[in-house]
Amino acid sequence: MGLSTRLLPPLGADAHKTYRLGIMGGTFDPIHYGHLVTAEQAREALDLDLVLFMPAGSPAFKQDRSVSDAEDRYAMTVLATAANAAFYPSRFEIDRPGVTYTVDTLSALREHYPDNVELYFITGADAIMDILAWHDAQRVASLATLIAATRPGYDIDTARAHIAASGIDFDVRYIEIPALAISSSNIRELVSVGKSVRYLTSESVMGYILKNHLYEPKGECRR
Ligand code: NAP
Repeated sequence: MGLSTRLLPPLGADAHKTYRLGIMGGTFDPIHYGHLVTAEQAREALDLDLVLFMPAGSPAFKQDRSVSDAEDRYAMTVLATAANAAFYPSRFEIDRPGVTYTVDTLSALREHYPDNVELYFITGADAIMDILAWHDAQRVASLATLIAATRPGYDIDTARAHIAASGIDFDVRYIEIPALAISSSNIRELVSVGKSVRYLTSESVMGYILKNHLYEPKGECRR
């Protein structure tokens, strides 16, 4: 498959134990506190041993728009996750050429880790809503439990009905994350007009954005 497993953290050593691996999938352009809270709440709610933060190399549904360089998105992910011992930034998808399909990632992780490691794919509920259009959605369903993070007010019943109508047996768990009132698009917009993003993402990510002139700020970001 050509995906490097070299840098993946070890998990599953005790054959008598079941381990749970979270995979936090997203574009992370940029990563923000909503993502970090989502991963932490999912980790606690589902008793995950580790969470891999996996910036998508070339997001499947964003082929028609520009996304920041994968190295910048990865660097910000490293900075944002550094303080949490259970969070591991991963180059797994950005090092793979071509369009990023979740099914490829999950298949490679399934091959890499022993059977006593269960996979939990965590992402935004809006992304999960589109899952029927994902490459090989049926196989995605068979490889991982899906954790759908919702913003407050999200219509979970409609989402459930939509996914149930597919006839595919997706195991989707919904978690409401108030901090997801923060969004990457809003941060990009604020930076582009020179407004502060302090407290929406970490100081380190904010510094990285400013230092590298991401999101083409038209003015200075207020400190
Ligand atoms: P997106 O459409 O940009 O995101 C949809 C919504 O979910 C946005 O509101 C987004 O907020 C939020 N979101 C995204 N990732 C999140 C996360 N990890 N935790 C909480 N909220 C999150 O989605 P995307 O980034 O392109 O794709 C999300 C994941 O699904 C990626 O891992 C991607 O590879 C996968 N995916 C796979 C396929 C496929 O295999 N064909 C197709 C589509 C997506 P923010 O903008 O603030 O993050």
